[in-house]
Amino acid sequence: MSIKIENLTHIYMPKTPFEKKALDDVNLYIEDGEFIALIGHTGSGKSTLIQHLNGLLEPSSGKIIVDDIDITEKGVKLSDIRKKVGLVFQYPEYQLFEETIEKDIAFGPTNLGLGQEEILVRVKRAMEMVGLDYDKYKDVSPFELSGGQKRRVAIAGVIAMEPKVLILDEPTAGLDPKGREDILAQIKKLHDEYKMTIILVSHSMEDVGKLAKRIVVMNHGKVALQGEPKDVFKEIDTLEEIGLGVPQVTYLMRELKRRGFNVSDEVFTVEQGKEELLKIFVNDKKSNMGEK
Ligand code: ADP
Repeated sequence: MSIKIENLTHIYMPKTPFEKKALDDVNLYIEDGEFIALIGHTGSGKSTLIQHLNGLLEPSSGKIIVDDIDITEKGVKLSDIRKKVGLVFQYPEYQLFEETIEKDIAFGPTNLGLGQEEILVRVKRAMEMVGLDYDKYKDVSPFELSGGQKRRVAIAGVIAMEPKVLILDEPTAGLDPKGREDILAQIKKLHDEYKMTIILVSHSMEDVGKLAKRIVVMNHGKVALQGEPKDVFKEIDTLEEIGLGVPQVTYLMRELKRRGFNVSDEVFTVEQGKEELLKIFVNDKKSNMGEK
């Protein structure tokens, strides 16, 4: 299932003094099974863009083609699109409201009109997918959970609709480092094991460098750069001009390379950085032993 965005422009409050062009002729193709990250500073148009992908916003002009269907055409059933494209908003736990976790996750499938048995299967599966034990948590109130766990419940509520594409808007915002790691690992699992197409909106170059196969950088409503992390992170000047940067560890490796150390400058994660630094120490040790 692919998503094709063609010449998408979105203007908020047109023909008023508050008119704002939030998206300006965006073209993007998202393949089935991809893991892409959408990155850009606040106000660059990320949220506006993702809300078009399941029909929450209508384009001022342009098309969105989901699975060969132009969802901007009249007569398209948006409920069908929303079954395929799930959107997890920022701070989704604010939308939890039921008295138990099971009821909360069952809310979406119930609205789809599914039978009790199918709803139960989906709730169990969604909880397993986000790493929450069904028997342990089904009767617990979502409000008794930690921030990270609440967010997992909210994500499970969207997953229970069984979308093929999952869009997450800043899913790690406001979580502590452990909560962030857990959620990111869970998202990676949804992609690797359950083959979901993931569109991750993020501010964090570290997170996207670690996870995404392709990064799309937004600036002033346009796609400023896109490509594999290693290629996007080479464009340090452009990224800094638009108020972004590269992961801290990438800066470190580049500086070491500039100073003559034999390290790769295509490093985006602390893990890779560790490997590169160990290489220096091992080589250093070997050459010291050779000298003796
Ligand atoms: P991001 O998600 O990258 O922070 P948004 O898509 O939220 O960017 O915003 C893009 C631009 O559109 C910003 O200038 C923002 O102020 C404006 N905008 C967003 N939502 C609305 C709205 N509901 N009404 C008017 N302007 C909006």
